[in-house]
Order: sequence, then C-alpha cells, then structure tokens
Amino acid sequence: MNLRNILKLPPILEVKNVLCVQPHPDDNEIGAGGFLSILKEKGAKITFVTVTDGRKGLPTREITHDEIVKIRDAEKRKAGEILGVTEFIDLGFEDGGNYTIDSLIEKLVRTFRTVKPELVLTVDGWAPYEAHPDHEKTGKGVTAAILAARNLSLPHLGEPFSVPQIAFYATPYPNTYIDITNYWENKIEAIKAHTSQFDNPNWPFIYEFFYEQAKEWYKEGLVKGKLKSEKNTLNEEGLAEAFKVLSIWELHMFPNAIFS
Ligand SMILES: [Zn+2]
Repeated sequence: MNLRNILKLPPILEVKNVLCVQPHPDDNEIGAGGFLSILKEKGAKITFVTVTDGRKGLPTREITHDEIVKIRDAEKRKAGEILGVTEFIDLGFEDGGNYTIDSLIEKLVRTFRTVKPELVLTVDGWAPYEAHPDHEKTGKGVTAAILAARNLSLPHLGEPFSVPQIAFYATPYPNTYIDITNYWENKIEAIKAHTSQFDNPNWPFIYEFFYEQAKEWYKEGLVKGKLKSEKNTLNEEGLAEAFKVLSIWELHMFPNAIFS
C-alpha cells in the first residue's frame, strides 16, 4: 500500500517550503545537506530549527561552554548560508539538558503553525541504538508536534495546520533515496563550516565514513528502485542520502509505517 499515491503529496524534490529540525547545530547538514542543496537550487524556502544550544560540543578545554554556544551559532549560520537557509529559529534548550518532550512540542506546534511547511525533516527518534537523548527527544517531539499542530485546538499556539509529510534522516528504515552526487561538495562544505566540530585529526575518518555511507545508500536506492534523482539517467555508482518519508496519516495507529 502506498498512501502517498492516494494522498497525492507533493513529490519530495518539488517541495517549496521545508522546515528542518535538528537537535544540535550540524545535524541537518550531515543528514540532509545534499537534499537541501537541491532544494536551494530550486528556490525552496528552507527554515532551520535548532533544538539545543550545542554547549556540550567542546573541541578543547580552553573554550568555555558559553563561548562554544556563540561559536556554534556562527558556524550554523555559515553552514546554513551554503545550503540556502532563509530563516534560523533557535529553541534554546540546553544541549543534553533536562527539558521535556512536552516543552519541545509546545514550541514546535507554534513554529509549524507559523511557517506552514510542506515537509518537515528531522532525526529518526525511533532508531535502535540511537543513544543520544537529544536525538530521541527531537525525533519523537517533532512527530508528536505534527499531530498536535493539526489535531489540537491550542489557540494560544496559532491556528491548526497540517504538515503533510515528514522525512527522517539517520534512519534505519529508509524508503526514499535521493541522488546527491552533484551536490556532494556543497554538502561537505556545509559540514566543514562547523569548524569547531570537524577541523580535527578525526576528519579523514569521518569524511570516509560519510562518503562510503553515501555510496552504499546510492546502490541500495538503485536496487530497491527508490532512488530519486534530478538527472534523467542514473549511473551505476553515485552518492545518495536516505530518508524515511511518512505522511501525517502514518503517524498514529499505523503499525505498518515501519514497512512504508
Ligand atoms: Zn546531534
């Protein structure tokens, strides 16, 4: 069953208004930097919502937590510029802090109702072995907020709005692969704009990991017949990003979503 066919949702490469919710500055670039480069080229409105302040990402003990927050904010804006981000919204929760999913949902409902995105991108909060609490809370909070933005009145948070679809990155259950071969350099440039996190001796290993993963996803997408591309002809080898794309209807009482 493919609900997307029935619902006639906008094809993912044609969306004109995308909102990307990341737990920390840099997650959107790693998960979807290539896809966002495509959307930038096509003139889409791209909004970045960053849940936490990234204060735990200290590259050296000579920098304080307050200093790294400022540094990462500047890096996020530089990376966002490379990806064509038009608006940055910071929710201001403490990196690794004790904030609740409920507090996150409230802020996100207001944001969804204001920005009215055709697609929301975020981390997969149900990924097995995802041990970072900020990633789990963000993925689950975003999904719950999509339902709440449509289903609940909550007049103090704006008028109800239905986000038609969500795409999870860093997901073990991808159902959509996007050819980013021609956008790889732009993605890497955006990731490297986060100098405090990636300008260190681990970079060659990290780069190789991203590259090999992108190669595998391309092949996987090709084999499954789920590789979407801007190009008319696909090569045997290339680079891709992988997403689990679900319609809003699959986010509640729909156990088959895992197989969608
Ligand atoms: Zn993160």
